[in-house]
Formats: sequence, structure tokens, C-alpha cells
Amino acid sequence: MTKKSLQTTLIHTDYVAPQGFDAFPSAIHHASTVLFKDVASMRSGEWKDKNAYTYGLHGTPTTFTLEARLAEIEGGNHCLLAPSGLAAIAMVDLALLKSGDDVLLPENVYNPNRELGRWLSADFGITARYYDPLVGAGIAELIQPNTKLVWTEAPGSVSMEVPDLRAICAAAKEKGVLVALDNTWSAGIALRAFDLGVDIVMQALTKYQSGGSDVLMGAVITREKALIDRIAMAHMRLGMGVSADDAWLVMRGLPTMKLRFDAHDAAARKVAAWLKNRPEIAKVLHPAFEDCPGHEHFKRDFTGAGGLFSVMFDARYTEAQTDRFVDALDLFGIGYSWGGANSLVMPYRIQGMRRNWPDAGILVRFNIGLEDTDDLIADLEQAFGKL
Ligand SMILES: *Cc1c(COP(=O)(O)O)cnc(C)c1O
Repeated sequence: MTKKSLQTTLIHTDYVAPQGFDAFPSAIHHASTVLFKDVASMRSGEWKDKNAYTYGLHGTPTTFTLEARLAEIEGGNHCLLAPSGLAAIAMVDLALLKSGDDVLLPENVYNPNRELGRWLSADFGITARYYDPLVGAGIAELIQPNTKLVWTEAPGSVSMEVPDLRAICAAAKEKGVLVALDNTWSAGIALRAFDLGVDIVMQALTKYQSGGSDVLMGAVITREKALIDRIAMAHMRLGMGVSADDAWLVMRGLPTMKLRFDAHDAAARKVAAWLKNRPEIAKVLHPAFEDCPGHEHFKRDFTGAGGLFSVMFDARYTEAQTDRFVDALDLFGIGYSWGGANSLVMPYRIQGMRRNWPDAGILVRFNIGLEDTDDLIADLEQAFGKL
């Protein structure tokens, strides 16, 4: 290189680190600008095929690696990252729906997804209709000629009904309608969604993939290239980038994800079984328990359950009492989200969230973390004493 001034030396160097370095963690590639070898390679790169690097937003070795690993875990072929689980949901809707189209969502869908449906209906000329999560093959009667997408969630947020995914997918397929699944609850570990007929899997990596309660990210996964290409257009047009550091944090969680998931699962079943025997609790809404609507679909389709479930308090307890119970818990943080090491609790006004909810009483959702279950149960016991 020609002789440089000090100012240029601060920016340009001739040093190149030796080749041949290797280690288990993926390297973290930070980049907005991606450098091309020459003009010809700049002109020949096709961002959609991920066989070349074009710009930080479209991917780096770090994000491509995470995408490939997530697709592999889920049993899919293609993946796109989004800055949050909700951003991933929005990306699917904006990619596949246009003015005049119709989308079906389960009534127990993750609430911000339901809110997005309301917005599409109010401002974008798309109709969003909400169906009974246990509709099963009956979804066929709800599908209209302009229906383009059926969202599913297994189990549904908060109220935990497990849908008959096989029946919903079969009915949708027959009518040429795509099925998207929010598969966050099972982390892509305990439910083989594509084998059941699902076309698009969405994951909130914020939960088990990260496992650290310290990062927000989402993913959309498909088997079909033509389908991910449609979603990739929305990904590009909306500027859905994720930080390399965040991608690395999620990648760091993957090797331990199944161990953590199984530990959450065993602990949650133990705590749920203890709660089921309490006189204060009317129902345990855990898919592995018979109280849970759709339990038969869980038994048929799932190989595990993770740490999230809900309970219905007996109707004789007022909200003031159950709030006191929640406030009295010491080891359970009051907070949204889940999938981290810390146990969490959240009360919900479920009757206001759902049409025809069958039970009176307060619903409380638990995320069972990785603490010792005897300590968690002792904490619950003392909090029941404050009811
Ligand atoms: C958390 C969550 C999301 C959204 O993920 P964020 O990263 O928090 O936006 C979507 N669906 C389900 C079922 C979730 O639990």
C-alpha cells in the first residue's frame, strides 16, 4: 500500500490475522456495510439466496448461522430472524396478506397478535376473524374464498387450550390456505410442526432459545423456498435487522436448550400436580393434565411441555385475594415473558379476554423456572396462607 498519513493509518491497516483460527463459539460479525471483493461480485450477489453478503440488514455469517441452526432444530429448511417474536408475526402478516384478504386467528392467540389483527381490520382493509381454538376440522366452515392465512398457537397463550393442528392443517390444505403456527411454547423441541402440516413456524427466541431473559428476537421458519421468499420480501422492505450480539446470545443458549426445557418441564409438572391438590385451585390448565381443554391433542402430538401453565382459582376467591396471593410470592417475579431461569407469575382477567369463558374465578399463569421445586412449593404454600 502507498505511504499513509497518521490519520489514514488510524483507519486502514495492512495487517491480516493468520488463517486457521477455530473455536466452538461462532464469531460475531458486526456490520452495516458489507465489503465486496470487486464490482462484479457486488453486481452478481442475490441477497435472497443467502449465498452472498450484500448489506448488514440482509445477513452476516452470524445471522445466517443462527438462521440455519434454527431451521434445522425445527425440522424446516429456511429461516428469517426478526427483532422480536411480535415482529416475526407482523412480518408474516404483511408478507402474505393484502387489502381484501381474510385471516383467521384463534381466540386464545398471543394478545399482541390479536391486536395486530384488529389493526389490519381497522386500517388495512383486511378482515381478521377469531375462531374457537378447539374448532378442529370445523375450521373448514370458516374459510372463505378470500381467506389466505390461518394462525394457530399450540397451546394458546394464557388459557392453554391445545388445538387439533392435524385437523386444522388438513382442512386448510384442502382449501389452499396457509397455516402459521406460533410454536414458542414448545421451543421447536416438543412439537414437530411441519410433520403435522404446518406451513410457517414462528418462534419467540426471547423465551427458551435465549433462556437468559436478556434478549428479544423472533424467527420465521418454512420448508418451502417459495414461501420464505415471499416473507423475505417483507423482511427486506420492513428493514427487519437483528444485532450480531443478540444473535450470538441466542446461539449461546442453543446447546443447553433441551436440558433447560426438560428441567422446566419436570419442575412445572411437579408444581402443577401439587397445585392440583390444593382446595384453593379449581383447575390446572397444563396441557399434560386432563383438566386442560385439548389434552388429547397434547398426548397425540407433543413429546414435552416446558415450564408454562395456568391455574383457575376457585370462584369463591375475589381478585383482591388472589392479588394478595401473587404479591405474597417471594421466589416468583411478577412479569411477562418466560423461558428464563427465574420463576414468574401473572394474574389475568380471562373473562374479559375470551368470549364464552366457562368458569368464574381468577386465572393465574406460572412460568416455572429452574429453582428447586421444594422451595417453589414452600413459597406457594406460604402465599396461600395470605389469601
Ligand atoms: C413472547 C411471545 C411472543 C412474542 O415474543 P417477543 O419477542 O416478546 O415479541 C409471541 N408469542 C408467544 C406465544 C409468546 O410467548
